[in-house]
Parts: sequence; C-alpha cells; structure tokens
Amino acid sequence: MKYNQSNIKKAKKYLDNNNCIGIPTETVYGLAGNAYSDIAVKKIFILKKRPRNNPLIVHYYNLSELKKDCVLNKDFFLLYKKFCPGPLTFVLKLKKNSKISKIVTNNKKILAVRFPKQRLFKKLIKNLGYPLAAPSANISNKLSSVKASDVKEEFGNKIKFVLDGGKCKVGIESTIISLIKKPEILRLGGLENSKIKKVLNKPITVNINPNKKNAPGQSKLHYSPGIPLRMNAKKLKKDEAFVVLKKKNIRNKDCFYLSKKGNLNEATKNLYSTLRKIKKKGYKSIAVEKIKSVGLGQSINDRLNRASKF
Ligand code: AMP
Ligand code: MG
Repeated sequence: MKYNQSNIKKAKKYLDNNNCIGIPTETVYGLAGNAYSDIAVKKIFILKKRPRNNPLIVHYYNLSELKKDCVLNKDFFLLYKKFCPGPLTFVLKLKKNSKISKIVTNNKKILAVRFPKQRLFKKLIKNLGYPLAAPSANISNKLSSVKASDVKEEFGNKIKFVLDGGKCKVGIESTIISLIKKPEILRLGGLENSKIKKVLNKPITVNINPNKKNAPGQSKLHYSPGIPLRMNAKKLKKDEAFVVLKKKNIRNKDCFYLSKKGNLNEATKNLYSTLRKIKKKGYKSIAVEKIKSVGLGQSINDRLNRASKF
C-alpha cells in the first residue's frame, strides 16, 4: 500500500480502535499498537508469539510526549541531541503516573523508548495522541521485515493493514542503550557504539549476552531465516547459498553480495532482504564469508551469529 494522506488516516483509525498494524521505521518495520492500551498491546504479543517477559520498545513523536512517561537524565539529553530521531533506543526509568500499559514492560519500572526518523511514521504518530509500542514486525525469533511485503509474508491476513513506506533505510534494529545506571549497551544495532562513546565521553559497558535478565529479547537464537546458516565460510558446500560482502568478479548464481562496493551501510540495509530472498529461492542452507567486526560490521555479525544458532 503506497503512501497517501488517506492511508495515514486509515492507519490512525485502525490504531484508535486498538488494532495492530504494520508500520515503516528507518530500522525495520514495526508491528504497532497504542502503548497506553492493554488490549492493543496484548494483541502484539499474541500476533508475534512473543513471550510476555520480553518487553516492547515504545516509539514517541517528540520530547514533550516522552516526558509524560519517563525520567530523563543528562546522558539521555546528550545522546538525544546528537542522534534523535534515529536508530537509538534508550532504556529509562518509568514515571509513577505514566499511562504506559503494564503489559509493555512486563510490570517493570523501566521502559525502552525511541524516536524514529521515517517520514511516514512521523506523519502518522504526530496526530495520534499516544505513543506506539512497536516491536519488529515478524514472528518471534525470525527475520525482521524490511519491506511491507515482508510484513504480509510474516502475518498474512492476521493483520489488516500495513503502511507501505518502501524499503527501510537502515535495515537492522536500533542500538539499545540502558541509562538506568551507568550507560550500558544492551543490543548492537543501526548506530555504531563508537559514535555513542564519542558523545558521552566516558566508559560504556557492552552487555549483549544472551539470557540476560534485563534484555530478554537478546536470546541466543534470533533473526533466523529458518534454514541453517554458517559464518566465516571460505568455500561453498553443495546446495548452499553464499553471502559475500562485496560483489566478486565471478559468475556464480549461488553467490549473493550485500553491497556492490562493500559499503557497510548498504550491506546492513540489504542483510535481511538477502537472507529472505535466499530462503524463498529454496536453498537449504546459507554460508557467509568472514565479515570484519568493525563499525556496522559488528552489528551485522551479531545478527548472523544469532541466526547461526538455528
Ligand atoms: P524488538 O522490539 O523486537 O526490536 O525487541 C525489543 C528489545 O528491546 C527486547 O527484546 C529487549 O531486548 C529490549 N527491551 C525492551 N524493553 C526493555 C526494557 N524495559 N529493558 C531492557 N530491554 C528492553
Ligand atoms: Mg525483534
């Protein structure tokens, strides 16, 4: 469904009626519902088959909306000024009088929040009067959606509406930083850690271990294309698809490059769509060449590593 004003109105109507819809953000597509409504938020968990102890990220239009729900601190403002709107999620203290559904946080007093940059998303959320809980629009642990058609593939007729904003510009999920105590990165993502460090100008811990209590979504198996995947591959085995960073001067129909010139932004953008395409072509397994863990390469490898636990 392409953008026009009537699609934004339609999206608002579905959301006002406590329905969940697919929405574009710059990172990946979200499965969105009114974050103040227990009914809407429950639907998100059911549709995604998401465990209730895995909290949702809530998306805001602007600071004054966020101030109603969260306690903000100095580190938050430093990062907000530099990176928002953008692919950075903050974990913050929830205010006592916040209207956020308790189901969003699994009854905890902390909330993950973000300000998306995507044009259509901003047009939509501007007039809602409530923030949107929106986890990635995919069945739990599967590949995230980067196109409206991916969302339809994931949920079929179970969701009534997807707002089509074209292909997501970043292509993987946001980076998550907890600001509850000392700054702590809980998930690698679309914003490189080094850029965050520069702004805060103090040590940051990175804690992306699976089964961590405060980020249950960071499970070992995640982002799975649904077929086995191996990393650091040198040679292709029989019937495997080969994913490489940069286009190679060889003709091989089983070889899929992430970026013509090996650009990491482009490779990140194409990561999930390439894995999805390979699965659809009927390959039984995927081999990925070694990708350097530098900058966004670190986030790409994080996703591939979790996908390889299939
Ligand atoms: P997704 O919405 O699918 O991108 O996943 C959201 C992830 O954000 C979760 O799996 C958690 O790892 C993290 N998250 C959400 N809320 C919180 C929170 N209150 N505290 C810590 N991590 C959170
Ligand atoms: Mg997700």
